[in-house]
Amino acid sequence: MRKVAIYGKGGIGKSTTTQNTVAGLVEMGKKVMVVGCDPKADSTRLLLGGLAQRSVLDTLREEGEDVELEDIRANGYCSSLCVESGGPEPGVGCAGRGIITSINMLEQLDAYKTPAGEDLDYVFYDVLGDVVCGGFAMPIREGKAEEIYIVCSGEMMAMYAANNISKGILKFAETGVVRLGGLICNSRKVDNEREMIENFAKKLGTQMIHFVPRDNDVQRAEINRKTVIEWNAQCQQADEYRALAKAIDGNDMFVVPKPLKIEELEKLLMDYGLMN
Ligand code: ADP
Ligand code: MG
Repeated sequence: MRKVAIYGKGGIGKSTTTQNTVAGLVEMGKKVMVVGCDPKADSTRLLLGGLAQRSVLDTLREEGEDVELEDIRANGYCSSLCVESGGPEPGVGCAGRGIITSINMLEQLDAYKTPAGEDLDYVFYDVLGDVVCGGFAMPIREGKAEEIYIVCSGEMMAMYAANNISKGILKFAETGVVRLGGLICNSRKVDNEREMIENFAKKLGTQMIHFVPRDNDVQRAEINRKTVIEWNAQCQQADEYRALAKAIDGNDMFVVPKPLKIEELEKLLMDYGLMN
């Protein structure tokens, strides 16, 4: 089973990209589980058709330790498996800690298998924010995720976050198995964005694994509570997510990243921003 985590700045498109890519993978016949690691618990709604999934932490709070796998894992589009780890009550406790509790629970319940008992091909952890708090680094720190993709765009803060996340990966790669698999550019239509992110990836020692265009079909699918592939299998954006799924499936470039100094990052932004 490949253990993948998707990181990136808040609002950059992690949950959207994860679910749409997973739709591409299950369409290829892969067996995939998505584990939302964001207190917002919105990592699986497109795969589940909008059904609010009861989170692991809510279930633990309401039912105590005696939790069944069926209580916390739901079947989504094309037999994808969906879990939301959830979060603590606002203002109480640490959200990072909640991720640890949830993943431990999933392991105890032998959740890394299909309902028929087959091994999964992939688990995807959709993790909020950049790695600033140890809790959110947990999937990479404890070897729960081995392969990281960072969603970013050509916007400065998204690149800054991607560089920070690379620092986190570097820190844990020294003692563990975690590696960076690539940057996913989720376009914000910034000037020279594709070339800039390709170059940024190269400087980090990795690759831009796919350039996902900004397209309103993503919103059209979203208001129908569907992934783009399920909503309109024929549209161009559906093919973009299929291409990303295929690139991840065929990926063999896993590196220890080389984060940039802040001056280098700023120079990159200036070089490409001032080009035309
Ligand atoms: P995150 O999980 O990183 O916080 P989301 O996946 O929730 O971010 O994305 C935020 C919003 O951006 C979503 O509501 C979605 O509609 C929009 N979005 C993401 N990717 C695209 C895209 N390629 N084209 C158009 N809209 C997008
Ligand atoms: Mg999200």
